Amino acid sequence: MIIVMKQGATREQLLAVKKRIRELGYKPHVIHGTTRDVIGAVGDERGKAVLQALESMEGVDNVMPILQPYKLASREVCPEPSVIELASGVSIGGERLVVMAGPCSVEGEEQLIATARAVKAAGATVLRGGAFKPRTSPYAFQGLEEEGLKLLDLARRETGLPIVTEVVNPRDVELVARYADILQVGARNVQNFPLLKLLGQQDKPVLLKRGMATTIKEFLMSAEYILAEGNRRVVLCERGIRTFETATRNTLDISAVPVLKEQTHLPVVIDPSHSTGHASLVPSMCYAAVAAGCDGLLVEVHNSPETASCDGPQSLRPAEFAATMDKLRRFAQVAGRQL
Ligand code: PEP
Ligand code: MN
Repeated sequence: MIIVMKQGATREQLLAVKKRIRELGYKPHVIHGTTRDVIGAVGDERGKAVLQALESMEGVDNVMPILQPYKLASREVCPEPSVIELASGVSIGGERLVVMAGPCSVEGEEQLIATARAVKAAGATVLRGGAFKPRTSPYAFQGLEEEGLKLLDLARRETGLPIVTEVVNPRDVELVARYADILQVGARNVQNFPLLKLLGQQDKPVLLKRGMATTIKEFLMSAEYILAEGNRRVVLCERGIRTFETATRNTLDISAVPVLKEQTHLPVVIDPSHSTGHASLVPSMCYAAVAAGCDGLLVEVHNSPETASCDGPQSLRPAEFAATMDKLRRFAQVAGRQL
């Protein structure tokens, strides 16, 4: 249910309503609006009639059901788009687009530092790189694990760029959270509910990737798992879905951007690399994504794609990435955004 407070309701009245929500066995989530506050009360769907009685409390304007199955992710509870702040001062969801770029996986110091410097010089504001890699084959390179996290930390100190990196196993959440600025959930883990719940208890933003066969509704329900645990900083990432088409690695669902923007206040970014699988297709999809209204991009860049341990064919060379960023500035301007 959504409890809409009156304009000018006092802090004491808000606290009293929150307390009563807890007593009734629900979790209150306060959203401070520009003119008034609303409280999302989430919990067992069956007993929601009891929440209706909150309407008689002082300071409460009205109590309404949340119609969507995802509650805290919905525009009903939070009509304004969320802007997610990182400790480094970078924000996601505001006027400035966020470009997260870097190699698929961390392979070594030279590779990571060279690529990190190149993406920074081209204007990226977050460095990506996997230390734990969810590979289709158990025989493929699985990532450098903690050694990779240490190299990411080194790259952050060298460049000042915050880092986004994937956590694959719930057992590694605390370890990865010690190093990462943004915790990435890969497409294959989008419905790993124990992992999502743990990430909901972390004090770090989460980049949640859409699964290759996940509907938008399922995607938002996965985000809800994180939000319901108290972590409000969730960024959604469309990375291509499975279709009959084989010319591309996946099919980039560009319409997911405006659909998600209608349904949720959470920022939306696009991954043009895993969705296409070919470096030559990445620049066009970057421009299309920005034109469609996304809040940012997650792009694979490698200083030597031909020798990459993972996803070389879809990785841009530093010069290609820089040229794409230059052209992207013009698309950003038309879309009313900045790079
Ligand atoms: C990645 O970003 O490194 C990755 C593994 O992507 P996805 O989970 O979308 O396949
Ligand atoms: Mn990859």
